[in-house]
Amino acid sequence: MPRTDLLERLTIQTSEREHVKLLRRLRVIDHAEGPWLESDGRRLLGFCSNDYLGLAQHPQLIAALKRAADDEGVGSGSAHLICGHRREHAQLEEALAEWTGRERALLFSTGYMANLGAMQALLARGDLCVQDKLNHACLLDGAQLAGAELKRYPHADVEAAARQLATRPDAAALLATDGVFSMDGDVAPLADLAALCTREHATLMVDDAHGLGVLGADGAGSVAAAGLGQREVPVLMATLGKALGCSGAFVAGPAALVEGLLQFARPYVYTTAMPPALAAAACTAVEIARREGWRRERLHALIARFRSGAVQLGLPLMDTPSAIQPLLLGDAQAALDAAQRLEQRGLLVGAIRPPTVPQGQARLRITLSAAHEDEHVDRLLDALAGLPHGSPPGRHV
Ligand SMILES: *Cc1c(COP(=O)(O)O)cnc(C)c1O
Repeated sequence: MPRTDLLERLTIQTSEREHVKLLRRLRVIDHAEGPWLESDGRRLLGFCSNDYLGLAQHPQLIAALKRAADDEGVGSGSAHLICGHRREHAQLEEALAEWTGRERALLFSTGYMANLGAMQALLARGDLCVQDKLNHACLLDGAQLAGAELKRYPHADVEAAARQLATRPDAAALLATDGVFSMDGDVAPLADLAALCTREHATLMVDDAHGLGVLGADGAGSVAAAGLGQREVPVLMATLGKALGCSGAFVAGPAALVEGLLQFARPYVYTTAMPPALAAAACTAVEIARREGWRRERLHALIARFRSGAVQLGLPLMDTPSAIQPLLLGDAQAALDAAQRLEQRGLLVGAIRPPTVPQGQARLRITLSAAHEDEHVDRLLDALAGLPHGSPPGRHV
């Protein structure tokens, strides 16, 4: 038998995906301005970005980026542990630790790498890693990279999580969950998970990519909103690319955690530090996110406006307090058709299909931002009212 040609096999897999109409396509955005996106000569009102506080184009962030780039140039030139760790990184880490109420924080270039790095450093081969079935892909990948035994529990089911932990009472165990689930927008039962982990001597890790900046007094995230601190949630990860409008991520927790990650997290050690100018912009973003509570209030007012309108229209809304407001349509083609109809009306909404979500749970993933205006939400509701929609499967209000 001749050896399998890898490119040929990949090409076949791609065409199979096209055949079942699940092919992904890139879209070039020529210009972004607030919630508006220009693509293919058209101006579209976007409800698909994770820029929840409308900070990505804030003049103060841009000014901080420019100032630091003028002083320090673009690239950091090296990994953190060689000579890439600049004053801007150190300041950002301090600001993030203070905000989240942790002893220390460690920057990573992306959230994907932060999760891979934290799990690979914490978990040894054969350890137990218990996770919510709807966790973000990189948490699942992180457990696999670490060689841990991955056991998943049905979404938000704390008793099922307890049963998974009980299968191996003697194993070292990490329980990892999204704080706010990225495709569903709901919040994990954090207080109950924390109590379970304390009882079972498991370590709790929360990925708060969609909670930081959005939930909690001061925007400190879903963990703070649940009244939990570093003791209950020793491993807290969040990103800078969503509500903070920048790019990158961090893991925060006890000094011993951060010191250990610095030694052993390979996606931290063996990669170039993020540009210092980006760290400077992110530092400004943290200040604004904390100080300007009106951005959160504005966002939550828009969420409330959208939800009450959607309820009136009988739309298949899910029970979520976050900026992520999915409409569950079920069928992948139905989600794609709905997104296309919205686009014809000048609105850009993401159609999320398997394998990103489970089979039969395709949806429109609508995200709101403090940059939206009331009238934008009304336009969206208007367009949604014109869509055909049947009775959806799964959870809805
Ligand atoms: C976006 C996201 C990540 C990845 O973060 P990046 O910085 O985009 O790599 C990780 N976890 C969750 C829950 C996310 O939504």
